[in-house]
Formats: sequence, C-alpha cells, structure tokens
Amino acid sequence: MKSLRQFMEELSMVTIVMIGGPGSGKSTYSKYISGHFDIPHIYTGDMMRDLQKRDPEVAKIMDRGDLVPIEKVMKALKDRLGKDDTDNGYILDGFPRNMKQLTRMKQENIDYKYVVYLNVSEKEVIKRLTARGRKDDKPEIIKNRLKVYEKETGPVVNEFRKSQRRFIEIKAEGKDEKSIAADIIGEIEKRG
Ligand code: AMP
Repeated sequence: MKSLRQFMEELSMVTIVMIGGPGSGKSTYSKYISGHFDIPHIYTGDMMRDLQKRDPEVAKIMDRGDLVPIEKVMKALKDRLGKDDTDNGYILDGFPRNMKQLTRMKQENIDYKYVVYLNVSEKEVIKRLTARGRKDDKPEIIKNRLKVYEKETGPVVNEFRKSQRRFIEIKAEGKDEKSIAADIIGEIEKRG
C-alpha cells in the first residue's frame, strides 16, 4: 500500500514513457521534454552500452541487436530511479521493451502518467538509421532490431494504447524536429 504522502508526491510528478521503434527519435525528443519539464532522461540504451564495456555477455547480445536479459536491465534502471533527481519525475527512453518488462514495471510500481508513442514509417526509419552510423546500425543488425521491435515491443504499444488518456500518438516525421517536439509537449500539457 502506498502512503498518503507517497500518493501526493506521485500526483505532482511528470512521468513519461517514450516508445517507438529504432530510429523513431525517442532520444532526440526525450531531450526536449527533459529540458522543458526539468526531469531526467533515463535512457536504458545508454545504460546498456555502458554495461556492455564491462559485461561480455551483454556485449554479445547487443552486437546482434537482441535484448539484454531483464534482470540486468531492472538492476540498472532501479539504481538510476533511486537517485534524488527523479523526485519531480522522469522520462523512460527504451523501457519497457517487451511484455515481461511491462509486467515487472507494474509489479515494481514504476509510475507513468503519459506514454508518448512515436510513429514513423519503416522507409523513414531505414533512411535515418543508415545515416546515423552507430555500432549497431549495420544493415543486418538494423533488420534484426526492427524484427525484435515488432515482435517484442509491438504488444507493449498495443497494451498502452488501451489506456487512452495516457496514450499520446505522434507522427514523428515530415516536420522539423522542433515542431514535433512542440507537438509532444503540447499534448502532454493539454492532458494535465
Ligand atoms: P536503443 O538505444 O534504445 O536502440 O537500445 C540499444 C540496445 O540496448 C538495444 O538493441 C538492446 O540491446 C539494449 N536495450 C536498451 N534498452 C533495453 C531494454 N529495456 N531491455 C533490453 N535491452 C535493452
């Protein structure tokens, strides 16, 4: 059971899940939102890239474009969420990535008020990822990451879509970055 104090604190927090495929712009827009609401951008992809340097098992998995085992992700995420700068809220970028992570998120009471789903066509995604040149942005690995996204994260998007008031769908292409960021922030503020 949550205490009344905990409940009141959570009411004023801005907690956001950014969800979308590889190359949908999750991290780009997370940075705008982070600046606007003064909340930290918690990016599991960066955390896992950091872990990859110390953990050969993680390195192997990431080199294939597959998902890192849940216990490793949960440990890194919970350590990060335990820091004081999350008192006003946070943006989760890249988590939850599959149904198992969504279940754990709920079990561990990781709060979220809004889900921002970035919808981008596959053609545009391939164009963006090819131009980005990150270590895991090679054609074969891109293909696998898109497959993993569809299979693992697709059901999470469908689940979030059911919570209509929280769910914000944004067409994240065809306009400049700043206008898309303003659309996202506007939608969040409208829902209050
Ligand atoms: P991203 O920067 O979000 O595209 O993530 C890059 C890679 O980090 C992914 O392909 C996964 O290998 C790993 N990763 C990031 N977030 C998660 C997560 N929530 N669960 C499992 N693996 C993750």
